Amino acid sequence: MFGKDCDIKVDINCVWNYALALKHVPLIKDYEIKVIEQPMRPSHPETADFADLMHKTGVVLMADESACSLEDMKKIAEDGYYKMINVRLSKCGGFGNSLKIIEYLRCNGISFQIGCHLGESGILSAAGRILCLLCRDAVYCDGSYDEFLLEKNVTVQDVSMGPGGEADPLKGPGLGMEVSEKNLAELSEGFNSITVSRP
Ligand SMILES: [Mg+2]
Repeated sequence: MFGKDCDIKVDINCVWNYALALKHVPLIKDYEIKVIEQPMRPSHPETADFADLMHKTGVVLMADESACSLEDMKKIAEDGYYKMINVRLSKCGGFGNSLKIIEYLRCNGISFQIGCHLGESGILSAAGRILCLLCRDAVYCDGSYDEFLLEKNVTVQDVSMGPGGEADPLKGPGLGMEVSEKNLAELSEGFNSITVSRP
């Protein structure tokens, strides 16, 4: 359906074990899946076996839930199961930590994509766009789905990607977008206060 000029990635979100992963191997081969993201939960003992099988077939395993901090990257480099990392600003702790992680990955020959947070607002989409522009060696840039996922956004500008997934630098200072006070007020209706209880 998509043709041969795109890579198909699948995100398993930690739900496979080895037996379930094996059942999907024919589909992975038939549809020429290029990247499998986080097939099993972090530290799942069967990740090693599945990684070995996938490496033999040329499919790349990408870590997401297993890869949040610089410490996690060190373990990933040591284990060698994952050859790509999903770096997300929201998960990795903002620009400073994400850039440190990316530098570590570069030095250790591990590729990466800049990922996003499903349903993120235009603010985080704009920040993700900047990280993509700063790190042009990312294999994939994922994000800016705003108009496709959100009924209403908190930004004045539409930060969504354009046709064919193209996304240019945003114009303007800072993150390149402004927060719409009107939309923010409408979206926070009924949520004017937050109660936090700590044990
Ligand atoms: Mg993921």
